Amino acid sequence: MDSLEDVAREVRACTDCPLHRGRTNAVPGEGSPNADLLFIGEGPGFHEDRQGRPFVGPAGQLLEGLLASIGTNRDEVFIANMVKCRPPDNRDPQPPEIAACSKYLDRQIELINPKLVITLGRFSLGRFFPGESVTRARGQLRQKNGLRIFPVMHPAAALRRPELRTTLVQDFRAIADALAVDPEPDSVDASEVREESIAGGPVPASQMGLFGGFAAPPAPITSDPSGDGEVPDQSTGKDEQQRSADPHQLSMF
Ligand code: URA
Ligand code: SF4
Repeated sequence: MDSLEDVAREVRACTDCPLHRGRTNAVPGEGSPNADLLFIGEGPGFHEDRQGRPFVGPAGQLLEGLLASIGTNRDEVFIANMVKCRPPDNRDPQPPEIAACSKYLDRQIELINPKLVITLGRFSLGRFFPGESVTRARGQLRQKNGLRIFPVMHPAAALRRPELRTTLVQDFRAIADALAVDPEPDSVDASEVREESIAGGPVPASQMGLFGGFAAPPAPITSDPSGDGEVPDQSTGKDEQQRSADPHQLSMF
C-alpha cells in the first residue's frame, strides 16, 4: 500500500523536471499522516532546500506562530508544497514543473485525506481555482473535487507587508472556524468541477472543539486588506532568506 514515506522516498529520487538539478535536498513535506489540516505552499526556498524540510525559514517561523495562535502546531498538521525542489534563485515555479510534481501532492492529499486544505498564496490556490486572486479568494471556505479548501495569503507576503499580518491572523482564526462547519455529506464527488462556497457565518469559539479553544474569539472575515482587490505578489516565499526574522514581528503571538 502507498504511504507518505513511499511518496517522500520517490520525491527524493525524482528527476522528472529540471528543478532536480539545482536542489540540495528535495522537500517532500512533513507532519501528521492523520492531519485535519493540510497546508500547501509554493516550493522550497533557501533554508528548506538546505534542510529538506518545508517552511523552516522566516515564513516558516511566522507560520508556526500562526499555528500556535489557533492551538495547533506543525506536528499535528501536514505541510507540503506545490513543487518539492527549490526553483533557482527562488523564481516562480513554471507550469511544466508544477505539472510534473503534482502527482506527489495528489498522493499526499489522498493519503492524508484532510478535513481542510489550506492554500498558502497564489500557486496552491491556482491548483484548485486557476487564475483566481488570493486577495479575492482568501478567507472563504470553498469546496472543490470533494475537498474543502480554505485559501489564505502566503505568510511571506505578510513578512514583506506587515500591514497584512492582521488579515493573516484573522484568516487563521477562520481556519479553526471552518473546521467546525459540517461538511456537506458527499455532495460533491470527485468529478465535480463546479465550485461552491460552503462558508457559513463565523462560528463562536465556544463551539469549536478541535483545538481546545482560543486566546480570543474569532473575528469575522470581511476585509479586502488593500481595498484595491489585489495585493501584489503575495504568493511566494522568495526573498525570505534575505530577511531576518524580526522577533518583534512575531510578538502578537
Ligand atoms: N515558502 C513556501 O512556499 N514553501 C516553503 O516550504 C517555504 C517557504
Ligand atoms: Fe521531481 Fe517535483 Fe523535484 Fe521536479 S520538483 S524533480 S517533479 S520532485
